[in-house]
Amino acid sequence: MTENRTQGRVIRSYSNIYYVDTGGEVLECRPRGRLRYHDEKVLAGDIVRVSPASPGFGAIDEILPRRNSLSRPPVANVDQVVLVFSFHGPEIDLYLVDRFLILVAAADLPAVLCLNKMDLASDPEIASVQGVYEKVGYRTVIASARTGQGLDGVRDLLGGRLSVLAGPSGAGKSSLLNALSPELGLRTGELSRKIHRGTHTTRHVALLPIGQGGMVADTPGFTHLELKDVKPADVSWHYPEIAALGGECRFRGCVHRAEPDCRVKEAVGEGSVDGGRYQRYLSLLKETEAAYRPW
Ligand code: GDP
Ligand code: ZN
Repeated sequence: MTENRTQGRVIRSYSNIYYVDTGGEVLECRPRGRLRYHDEKVLAGDIVRVSPASPGFGAIDEILPRRNSLSRPPVANVDQVVLVFSFHGPEIDLYLVDRFLILVAAADLPAVLCLNKMDLASDPEIASVQGVYEKVGYRTVIASARTGQGLDGVRDLLGGRLSVLAGPSGAGKSSLLNALSPELGLRTGELSRKIHRGTHTTRHVALLPIGQGGMVADTPGFTHLELKDVKPADVSWHYPEIAALGGECRFRGCVHRAEPDCRVKEAVGEGSVDGGRYQRYLSLLKETEAAYRPW
């Protein structure tokens, strides 16, 4: 019996049925009673041990330890969150970019930037946004789902990883996935529209195969951009360039606002920390202070 067991990844959940990709085939599985008894909910992205039953079917015996899990969308073992923004139509909102970056960092996941609709932007415009984020260490990929420019970079970004996409509706998430895997046949806005379908349907997550061994959750993440769970004192630690200087201020617990002898403000003055990022940091800090509910 045991030698018959196999391991795989849950690629789709629907009610209490899970589709497990074992490498060779996709089995339709139900969790064993023992799992249900312990109230262990199987998530898309989970690596599970299954016992094959009749051809095409199996039972999930065990969920292997997760590296992480998100609740919206319910996905486990996420490798990265890809923030998709367009330069224009809709206009890139750097405040929103930084807000997403804070939330993703607070969830302890790596964030990468995918800037789409490069066909609508000038070279200096592209270089200026890319420069700001690459300088602080974020991988930044520039593309156009429409012209196909930069798509190799996006494929490379998504290959071999499980990604959750995030970003404003209309930025081109569905178009990018379609451009990479036309067989998906996603409709325009399909990835964004899922949000509005109510909470019960968003429990049904599918992982879409993209590129070489890449998978993308079919529901965007971080759609509720609430900062209330982020501790104000932690905000600066979610800025790599500020965190790097954090220990050098005169006061411990310096939030780099009005404190004297602040290394961060000094760095802004010298231009080694981007002034725009710093101004947005101050606004987001204020917003976090107003929103934070520790209970
Ligand atoms: P989503 O809501 O993020 O999934 O965005 P969609 O993929 O639905 O794209 C929104 C709109 O932007 C659609 O009308 C697309 O045709 C258009 N679009 C997507 N990518 C590009 C691009 O690279 N350049 C231009 N000019 N338009 C694009
Ligand atoms: Zn400081």
